[in-house]
Amino acid sequence: MTDQARTGAWLLQETQLASATLSIDLKVLQDNWRLLAGQCGTAECAATVKCDGYGLGIAPVAQALAAAGCKTFFVALPSEGLALRAILPRADIYVLDGLFADAGQAYVDHNLRPLLSSLEEIQHWRRLCQMAGRPLEAGLHVDTGINRLGLSAGDITVLTADPDVFSTMSVCLVVSHLACGSVPGSATNRLQLDTFNTLRSALPQAPASIANSPGSFLGEAFCLDLIRPGIALYGGNPFDARPNPMSAVAHIYAPILQVREIAAGETVGYGDAWRARRKTRIAILGIGYGDGYPRSLGSPGRDSPSQVMIGGGFAPVIGHVSMDMIVVDVTDIGDEFCTRGVRAEIMGDNVTVDEIAAWAGTIPYEILTGLGSRFARLYSCLDSV
Ligand SMILES: *Cc1c(COP(=O)(O)O)cnc(C)c1O
Repeated sequence: MTDQARTGAWLLQETQLASATLSIDLKVLQDNWRLLAGQCGTAECAATVKCDGYGLGIAPVAQALAAAGCKTFFVALPSEGLALRAILPRADIYVLDGLFADAGQAYVDHNLRPLLSSLEEIQHWRRLCQMAGRPLEAGLHVDTGINRLGLSAGDITVLTADPDVFSTMSVCLVVSHLACGSVPGSATNRLQLDTFNTLRSALPQAPASIANSPGSFLGEAFCLDLIRPGIALYGGNPFDARPNPMSAVAHIYAPILQVREIAAGETVGYGDAWRARRKTRIAILGIGYGDGYPRSLGSPGRDSPSQVMIGGGFAPVIGHVSMDMIVVDVTDIGDEFCTRGVRAEIMGDNVTVDEIAAWAGTIPYEILTGLGSRFARLYSCLDSV
């Protein structure tokens, strides 16, 4: 850690040389984890950090969560598990996508726990336990209707016919996954929970988990022994149609590269896609789809809802989103903010990741995990790390 990091509020990395910056507030991340932990009574609050911590950087994210008290982590891939193990030598790490056919030894060597979701995977893990000469820890993944990964009711019947099947392994978690958690009123949630509770009674006794982010807000029955939120930790709204109880972790700012005035009738960007209806002051900002700012946020030939914030006011995005640039209408923004180098809030407290996702016709997960590698990344420092 540099002296700058120890003394300053932000660790600066190449900000002068990059265009847009991505600031990640690790204290807010910890606050979000604490809020979720407070939702679930006596259940343990784990963290899902797959896909590079939802695009925000698995190392700083996992370190901050561990410092807040998180002990159990979920990744999707064994490669992510290895990366996390290097950061957190003692954490419990589960691999959501299960046991990869050619990677068994890596799970053993790095103490990764697969969520076993088929009879084949269970047999594979049994062989690894035999080779290791000890009962290795693993979770079981039960499908209760989402029909993605997981043991079916039929698989569980087959398993219960062999009382020895789990004797050589240590089953330390039983998991299922909700299809409609983000719709709290959906009848599917209750149905899945009931199915899960029935199916797991035929499996070895172990702590149980069904709640992702939205599931963590569905009451204690859904929290079971452990919740495993992802998106809510990073500030995304766990609900489809309720106010977001979480706070923004990721903040994107992009600098004004140039300001210009155009006359009514002039066009902006590729394909003459946007035409000025009045004398318009425009600002060119240094961010584009190459950074993960979706091209669908452009407004070719229409008024798009997409906007950024400059000097406390909102400026609409006009024309196509380019690879490295967007153009915004700053006619109504104060003169003092319309100069080269002023930074616009692209995403953060005022322009939320949920809004950006809605404008782009997608979900906050895709926006965060799609953030590019060109940002200068700034991580807030933690007193405790
Ligand atoms: C991604 C994932 C989670 C976390 O989901 P969020 O909606 O981001 O909270 C939990 N469980 C499983 C099985 C997942 O795939």
